Amino acid sequence: MKKRIAFISEHASPLVTPGSVDAGGQNVYVGELAKQLSRMGYAVDVFTRRENPDLPAVTMWMEEVRVIQIDAGPAKVVAKEELLPYMAAFREEMISFMEEEQTAYHLVHANFFMSALVAMELKQLLGIPFVVTFHALGHVRKIYQGDKDRFPPERTDIETEVILQANQIIAECPQDKEDLINYYKAPVHKITIIPCGVNLDEVYAVDKEKAREILKLPKNEKIILQLGRMVPRKGVDNVIRAMAQLKMPDVKLIIVGSNVPASSGDVDYELERLRTLANELKVGAQVIFAGQRSRHELKHYYSAADLFITTPWYEPFGITPLESMACGTPVIGSDVGGIKYSVADGRTGLLVPPEDPVSLAAAIFKLLQDDSLRQEMGSNAIKRIHALFTWECVARKMKYLYQQVINEAYYEKSHIY
Ligand code: UDP
Repeated sequence: MKKRIAFISEHASPLVTPGSVDAGGQNVYVGELAKQLSRMGYAVDVFTRRENPDLPAVTMWMEEVRVIQIDAGPAKVVAKEELLPYMAAFREEMISFMEEEQTAYHLVHANFFMSALVAMELKQLLGIPFVVTFHALGHVRKIYQGDKDRFPPERTDIETEVILQANQIIAECPQDKEDLINYYKAPVHKITIIPCGVNLDEVYAVDKEKAREILKLPKNEKIILQLGRMVPRKGVDNVIRAMAQLKMPDVKLIIVGSNVPASSGDVDYELERLRTLANELKVGAQVIFAGQRSRHELKHYYSAADLFITTPWYEPFGITPLESMACGTPVIGSDVGGIKYSVADGRTGLLVPPEDPVSLAAAIFKLLQDDSLRQEMGSNAIKRIHALFTWECVARKMKYLYQQVINEAYYEKSHIY
């Protein structure tokens, strides 16, 4: 019998294009993992909160992957910090859906703490085992964001309880595992490290000249790329400050990502802040804001660049460095979280301290001066991605974990001694 898996991802749907304030790595993770698991013989239903009144209740996203809109709270985008009060309704709607369809799941995979709260309650009510990927931890966020963290204070208590109740916890990198143990006393035997991945059909190296031609970018100038969600913790301002330190007016910085679609005409205040900073530092003419780009365009941006930069304050995993490496573009990244795990320092890029534009400028200078080093790092990067970080490889590890959890739960329920 086909195993049925329920993914819960309350704020991050695979149907939404990533690149805005609350749509990023988790949307990619849920979609790509569901896709690979369906190819491995699972049927996956992704439950997500309805943000769009026009979507059907059930979207057949691909063979054996359905995306199910759960009515919980207003049918519009609501900041994830404000979603906790709607989680009881989310749980009830999910139960009604299962009853109506008479669908039973072998396992729930929860994504983020609010989905994990729902999964924990479903386990108590219906006995369905669950695994959780937190994607980010409340304690860590508090350390870095302090008073700016607007999540409800119950978040860390919920995470602590989830850790007790979950059948298994997926840490995305060794730092994530350490944080789970240090801040939440998570039992080591419950934690499995499974990283994120890249879809190599979507993100792969394209000839640099061709990519620049497609994007109408200068042929001969050095280009560095910053791509991701435009939120302060991603440290995009650090890259702009490094540009000012670098004093190389021919170098261009392309910034991809925006909190508002270009078609809306709305103001993106974070981009405005960055633009003002670039002008104040007299590098405005070197910075190109490319806005939010769709998945199929990404390979051109990564391939067109000589270097990819990502210097967040902290990073639970960080899929963008993987995407850059898959395109053969070396990465300069913060020496934090998942980046220090995915980027091999000195071999596929360089690691620098976060919030340190002087060190970043020195690293950029070093790599821009050395074409053969960049080339060598780029080819090492492609090999590293193929060996360790494809979604296929991630899904194989996940399948192994699911089977273990499903077997153990079945054994416990059937009282075989
Ligand atoms: N992204 C995108 N278009 C954009 C900007 C970002 O598709 O305009 C994608 C990016 O390619 C990556 C994801 O959003 O797959 C961001 O994931 P990451 O793990 O790096 O950061 P997170 O969003 O989880 O903080």
